[in-house]
Amino acid sequence: MLDEVVACMVPPLGKPSVGDDGRGPMGKSLRVEELSDDEVKELESDSKFRSFGPWQCSDCGHKGPFRRRLYRIHGKYELTDDAVQDAFRRHMYQHHGLGNIFFRTIADTGYVDTAFCGKCDSNLIVYDLLMLDAAKFLVDKLRSK
Ligand SMILES: [Zn+2]
Repeated sequence: MLDEVVACMVPPLGKPSVGDDGRGPMGKSLRVEELSDDEVKELESDSKFRSFGPWQCSDCGHKGPFRRRLYRIHGKYELTDDAVQDAFRRHMYQHHGLGNIFFRTIADTGYVDTAFCGKCDSNLIVYDLLMLDAAKFLVDKLRSK
């Protein structure tokens, strides 16, 4: 089930500038490091980070909770660049088995963001702007003054 989903989410192989050996567009090895629970908590305290996140499972419609997994990207990459994103998608699929990832930049650091359904364990989670969460943050902020 997951394999099938993953296969259609991964961009087609064969762009000449990007090898399949985990090397990025600049010929450097891509390095990502999974965050610890404490680091995830710290990141979740950032309002920009929290304003976008897992919203709904594409497979079963479950609306959370989700198991979140986050990876810090080592080095500076233009994460809005398609070739860079392709290289990371391929890397995350081949080395971490992740077929559905999102790119985040928080405080000048790049992250790979992904989530699994708490109900059916699918990785095909739709991310969206979490306006409720953002509004809640503002309320919390006002209350703390
Ligand atoms: Zn699900």
